[in-house]
Amino acid sequence: MKIKKVLLSAGVHGNEKTPIFLLKKFQKNSIPITRSNFKTEILIANPQAVKLHQRYLDVDLNRCFSSEKLDKPHPVKYEEIQAQAINRRVQESQIDLILDFHTTTSSNMGITLLLSNDHPFNLKLAAYLAEHNDLVRIVLNAEQKQNNRLRHLIPLGMTVEIGGIAPNVVDPVWVERLEYLVQQILEYLEQINQDRPPVTPKIITLYSLQEPVYFPTDDQGEIVAMVHPNLHGSDYSVLNPDEPMFIDLDGNNIYYSGETANILFVSESAYFEKQIAFYLATKKKISIE
Ligand SMILES: [Zn+2]
Repeated sequence: MKIKKVLLSAGVHGNEKTPIFLLKKFQKNSIPITRSNFKTEILIANPQAVKLHQRYLDVDLNRCFSSEKLDKPHPVKYEEIQAQAINRRVQESQIDLILDFHTTTSSNMGITLLLSNDHPFNLKLAAYLAEHNDLVRIVLNAEQKQNNRLRHLIPLGMTVEIGGIAPNVVDPVWVERLEYLVQQILEYLEQINQDRPPVTPKIITLYSLQEPVYFPTDDQGEIVAMVHPNLHGSDYSVLNPDEPMFIDLDGNNIYYSGETANILFVSESAYFEKQIAFYLATKKKISIE
């Protein structure tokens, strides 16, 4: 398989400034992302939201890429119009691979690769990156419930979440880490295109994303508890049954009653409006061809 065109995307959420800064740097000087055997394109996906330092204007852009929304005849919301325009560009430019960069406020997410699907190409690229970059972890939503994300426009690609980084902060350490990751990805692709694919591990560890855990709410739908201090800042750690996961306004612990799982995106600020406290994931080892 050859890759001819790669899309580097940032600013799907306008307040995630660190990857936007890196891609603007590449727009100014494209030498670091220029390779002999494939092309790279840059997308700042939600320019109005970037200008206003907001996550979005009307609706979350990264929930607008479902086929239903892309086929909507007369979209009115800014992000729905923008999603259709991005889809047209991806199809017309014949993009082979989407790398969509985001930041998360959850403190210990490192570099989290959210794969579009379990296509062997995606798994091998992720395996290579996990092998060569200690910050990388691999997440797959096996049930494909998130198929309204930008990464789902084509089969090959991933969302890359880095952090924790606060909204609207350009974190220089993370700019450098992300630039290093981009170089690792481009080098990998260059070798694939030269028919000398790098050796990748045959067994990888991945986190299979499950349902979110919602904050407890009162009759008016107001959140009435906070994440337990044991969990806050502990992304990827293990949550066992009967361990406390929230403390309510009266100071009482609320205990977890599900099966043992890993926790991700703990206290992510952008999920607060969705009343999501964190996600559960199951850690697995899988073998790849
Ligand atoms: Zn984002």
